[in-house]
Amino acid sequence: MTAKTLYDKLWDAHLVKQRDDGSALIYIDRHIIHEVTSPQAFEGLRLAGRKPWRVDSILATPDHNVPTTTVERASGVSGIADPVSKIQVQTLDDNCDSFGITEFKINDRRQGIVHVIGPESGACLPGMTVVCGDSHTATNGALGALAHGIGTSEVEHVLATQCLVAKKMKNMLVKVDGVLGKGVTPKDVVLAIIAKIGTAGGNGCAIEFGGQVFRDMSMEGRMTVCNMAIEAGARAGMVAVDDITIDYVKDRDFAPKGNDWVLAVNAWRELVSDADAVFDVVVELNGSDIIPQVSWGTSPEMVVSVADSVPDPAAEKDAVKQTGMTRALEYMGLSAGQKMTDIQLDRVFIGSCTNSRIEDMRAAAAVVKGRKKADSIKEAIVVPGSGLVKEQAEAEGLDKVFTDAGLEWREPGCSMCLAMNADKLGAGEHCASTSNRNFEGRQGYGGRTHLVSPEMAAAAAIAGRFVDVREWL
Ligand code: SF4
Repeated sequence: MTAKTLYDKLWDAHLVKQRDDGSALIYIDRHIIHEVTSPQAFEGLRLAGRKPWRVDSILATPDHNVPTTTVERASGVSGIADPVSKIQVQTLDDNCDSFGITEFKINDRRQGIVHVIGPESGACLPGMTVVCGDSHTATNGALGALAHGIGTSEVEHVLATQCLVAKKMKNMLVKVDGVLGKGVTPKDVVLAIIAKIGTAGGNGCAIEFGGQVFRDMSMEGRMTVCNMAIEAGARAGMVAVDDITIDYVKDRDFAPKGNDWVLAVNAWRELVSDADAVFDVVVELNGSDIIPQVSWGTSPEMVVSVADSVPDPAAEKDAVKQTGMTRALEYMGLSAGQKMTDIQLDRVFIGSCTNSRIEDMRAAAAVVKGRKKADSIKEAIVVPGSGLVKEQAEAEGLDKVFTDAGLEWREPGCSMCLAMNADKLGAGEHCASTSNRNFEGRQGYGGRTHLVSPEMAAAAAIAGRFVDVREWL
């Protein structure tokens, strides 16, 4: 029997039809929807006189357009000040109500960012195919699932047929062995990977993250890494199932129970790459060499360690890359040779589907505890990824730790990750952000994003600039 990778196994288990031209139809187990990419899909269904084919496979929640201040959230959808956001969220509610779709609505305690609530609720499980009209659906690959983002027309197609037209990707293994040092986080690992392979490094591939570093990593850490597989050019990232996966899934609301649980766990144990499976591409890093990372430019590959300086485009031999670096430095208002620790910051954002889970909240709180936000930081906001994360953090007193330090504690949502709600950067402002994209204007027109871990963002809020958080731990 041919040895298979984890991706091969997931693909084969869901293959409905393979065509000679390479295209295929795969079955979709879980469809997560939100307010941004679903309205046109539902409209298309209505125009065609169709209904969702398997309503119980769908879970909905609003995330991009929800405000994060307690005042604006108090009256639910009617309290949303921005008219476009209000329509988006109301339309999701209406569509879910009319088709009988389960939705964690704006003030449901389970509401949150789509990629946080999927694993948290147990709606996304090992061995599943998971799609959502949002590229960071790759997050769910941490469970040993095949998960990726889809476009609006594909959302409609999956709603109507429960299937997706897809093409099998290449197998890529990113292997990180060694042991991470103190203060070095999953975010640093994935930023170091992207810095090494570039934002096109995973093009056409499904990445499996393997090696000791991932075996030792918590599920939430694995989610952070898989979340950013998309920034490395891959459509999906995944980690093999092990005891950490099983323990995480157990007793979650949507997870199987009783004898179904026993059967499911037996099946999930097979979700590892065979020992002699062959990968098309293999990349290796030594985890012991990684130190906290900070992005300096306008692409997630424009990253250096906090101990480094802003790179000099003149030293880049590739003319296209050199032009990109020069443009990025102009946009970011930085100079070649400037030390990363000299970059002065205006705002701090701790949140997003990359880093808004309870472990992220705990890690950031541990750094700011007993300290005060720098006066030069205009605003530092901490946005939990879901209502349940918020509840847990408050039960542990983390909200108080943040507010005592001068940081703001917000309601769950995408918030300042992408400037589709009231949380935005002003033009020219530098932000230490735990999100996943630092493109021009991503956090607001003219805003300057630096991608970092929650620990690094928390330290930056206190110092007003980047510091090597390892020195504080
Ligand atoms: S937090 Fe950011 S990247 Fe994640 S789903 Fe929301 S907007 Fe997209």
